[in-house]
Amino acid sequence: MSPPLSYVHPTPESPWGTYLAQVDRVVPYLGRLARWAETLRRPKRTLIVDVPIEMDDGTVAHFEGYRVQHNLSRGPGKGGVRYHPAVTLEEVMALAAWMSIKNAAVNLPYGGAKGGIRVDPKALSLKELERMTRRYTSEIGLVIGPNQDIPAPDVNTNAQIMAWMMDTYSMNVGATATGVVTGKPIHLGGSLGRVKATGRGVFVTGREAARRLGIDLEGARVAVQGFGNVGSSAAELFGQAGAKIVAVQDHGGTMVNERGFDLAELVPHVKAQGTVAGFPGGEAADAESFWDLRSDILIPAALEGQITAERARRLRTRVVLEGANGPTLPAADDILADRGILVVPDVICNAGGVTVSYFEWVQDFSSFFWTEDEINLRLDKIMVGALKKIWDTADGHAITLRTATFAVACERILMAREERGLYP
Ligand code: NAD
Repeated sequence: MSPPLSYVHPTPESPWGTYLAQVDRVVPYLGRLARWAETLRRPKRTLIVDVPIEMDDGTVAHFEGYRVQHNLSRGPGKGGVRYHPAVTLEEVMALAAWMSIKNAAVNLPYGGAKGGIRVDPKALSLKELERMTRRYTSEIGLVIGPNQDIPAPDVNTNAQIMAWMMDTYSMNVGATATGVVTGKPIHLGGSLGRVKATGRGVFVTGREAARRLGIDLEGARVAVQGFGNVGSSAAELFGQAGAKIVAVQDHGGTMVNERGFDLAELVPHVKAQGTVAGFPGGEAADAESFWDLRSDILIPAALEGQITAERARRLRTRVVLEGANGPTLPAADDILADRGILVVPDVICNAGGVTVSYFEWVQDFSSFFWTEDEINLRLDKIMVGALKKIWDTADGHAITLRTATFAVACERILMAREERGLYP
């Protein structure tokens, strides 16, 4: 009865196609709530904006910006903003939908949203980046707000960009509104522990998975794709737990070190050079060979669609921890499950960032700030509790952790949908 969306053309390998396949897999486990499943296949609100800015040389450039609110049944929208030349509406829709699932999986009182600008931010000066961020914030000002939809950092966005967004929104409404974005600088209402929270959540879920599988983290071999915020923070925590980071890959290159990288040297190298490439404490390797390396834990922490069916057949690892959103295609998921390689899916694995974003938002509302220890302890407790429920669900139905996470989350979303009822 519901005609398909006209404005998106998903394929089995595209982000929205991947998400739709994941929804199809969970529907048989939704019982009577399956009646509402179509709501998961359609974003509630999709905003496309033109972002014109004056460049430093006096010319005018236009960028395409998006804010998608996938589902708001459980609370305001929540999700990051991505600056990347390959951002599309379809990608932002999928990222928004995964936020709905993630927020419900860890039981945060949020719906799911995501934003993005189709731009190469590295080609802009700092002033151009600020003008673009401010104009984008004003354009999406129609739909964001501390009680409506709360953006946060994602790929190529950071605390400075959140500060500009907070300031622009505050100027427009005539009052300082710290709760409109999370991931802000600490002295502007940011939270301790936020920067590394996603990586910490990846570590916590990885530690639990390793414990259940009997993998000793001391000496465990870890490979990390994407050495930005998420990948480097997770790598540091695995390193502190005694694991060896034996391979790292980013947009600039692939480096391996059988004895394990010295992260105290690698992290500053990446800060200074912008890439792992050229790091003297390891050997350069061919990009595709990254997927053949033997590891106990593999952490994709870059972009979507990295673990294809072909790569899934070659992987030599025991656990995949999805730091990135959407790194594994559905066909690859099946192959990994058949091969007995455990996948801790993005929608729980990387939920640490939004969990501490939630702490930040709560702290902003109460103007009372917690210590970093309190934050890390609460984060650990929430992630461990959420993962246990998901694991029990997976065991109960003999399904993958991904489908179990969708089952737990979709039940919460659709229950809220049913209880609120349809308006009018
Ligand atoms: P980031 O911009 O800090 O880092 C991205 C990393 O990916 C960089 O190291 C970059 O070089 C690498 N990369 C880009 N293209 C690549 C390619 N083709 N091959 C290999 N590496 C490539 O971004 P981030 O915040 O660390 O986000 C990484 C992933 O984690 C994204 O999927 C994002 O959506 C997800 N995520 C981030 C957060 C957060 O709090 N930042 C929260 C949840 C999920």
